[in-house]
Amino acid sequence: MEKNLLLKPGRERSVLRFHPWVFSGAIGDVRGSPGSGDTVDVLSERGEWLARAAYSPTARIAARIWTWQEGQVVERDFLAARLEAALSARAPLARDPHFNAYREVNAESDSLPGIVVDRYGDIRVVQLLSAGAEAWRDVVFDLLVKSGDCSGLYERSDLEARQFESLPPRAGLVFGAVPDRVEIREGDLLFGVDVRRGQKTGFYLDQRESRQVIRGMSAPGRVLNAFCYTGSFTVSALKAGAESVLSIDSSGEALALAQDNVLRNGLEPGRCSWKEGNVFHELRALRDRAEVFDLILLDPPRFAATASQVSKAARGYKDINLLAFKLLRPGGTLVTFSCSSGVSPELFQQIVAGSALDAGVLAQIVGWLGQPADHPVGIHFPEGRYLKGLVVRRMT
Ligand code: SAH
Repeated sequence: MEKNLLLKPGRERSVLRFHPWVFSGAIGDVRGSPGSGDTVDVLSERGEWLARAAYSPTARIAARIWTWQEGQVVERDFLAARLEAALSARAPLARDPHFNAYREVNAESDSLPGIVVDRYGDIRVVQLLSAGAEAWRDVVFDLLVKSGDCSGLYERSDLEARQFESLPPRAGLVFGAVPDRVEIREGDLLFGVDVRRGQKTGFYLDQRESRQVIRGMSAPGRVLNAFCYTGSFTVSALKAGAESVLSIDSSGEALALAQDNVLRNGLEPGRCSWKEGNVFHELRALRDRAEVFDLILLDPPRFAATASQVSKAARGYKDINLLAFKLLRPGGTLVTFSCSSGVSPELFQQIVAGSALDAGVLAQIVGWLGQPADHPVGIHFPEGRYLKGLVVRRMT
């Protein structure tokens, strides 16, 4: 018997608009007892064929669409073609001698739902986030190894999101060898990446353009880098000629990697100070001591994973940005981010404006930052846009 998902009346609309997710609440009937990750046909209530998808029986996103073309079969050649398309879109980056780390596959936005591949030099790191991706794990790994040009393939499918799909965490070496630290290059910046234990796949590749913006600032003065992780903004600011950089993170391991990155770039550790702590508390402590900075970088982790957490997230952003405005000298610059996809760019700008208002300062936005081209956003998948940054100058 064929495996089908029959949608409820009217719920075919988002599928017809090429949105890649089918929510569990949209499904009227499941036929043919599909298992986790199985390929199913998605049918309208009247039985019209709409799409072919991977089934996730336990997840809120119950199916992720592989194709809207009825003639396409989901098999090895299909995945090979999709992978090839994603890799060839990165050819300009692959050829650019200034950068050797970038995202090769960006899941839904590259028409490969649940599959992320990051490249660090000649090492690849893969994340399989969904039941459908997991079902094709051997094929995906084999295709990546056979596509050559990598000396090591490492899996980091150890994210929380896999719980919703009833998938266990998986991490480990798939092929070749991976050193303890993979050194990557972005222009004249060098970073050591710990692909085994680092956050995400080891590094925040999505902040590449932000690093270039900070690197391009002229003599940024006294700098505060809150949520510094491996110090990629610390190094960028030091290279730009910062007088001093105070870097804060709650993770001691992250601070150790950050200190290592400062030395890796031949920068003077004497210009750096480090604080292991909670940014929410540390910013208050700095305010109480009446500290002042010329440049403040705020790149917190995701505060809202789902739309239901948006108001709590908004309070978090409001709080840290308000404190940042108070710590910023007039004329100074705040570079502030949100990576919560539930917080729209408009809402984020409103929150930051509210923070400036409550801090009693006038400010102007002098730049907008976001995901670079190797983290594309599918045009029918606005959820793929998660990273937003504002460059704000305090006027008074
Ligand atoms: N800007 C960084 C990426 C930041 S990721 C870069 O350039 O790579 C977010 C970081 O915030 C993580 O390193 C995490 O350890 C840290 N973190 C999360 N919550 C925190 C908190 N309340 N206080 C301090 N650090 C926190």
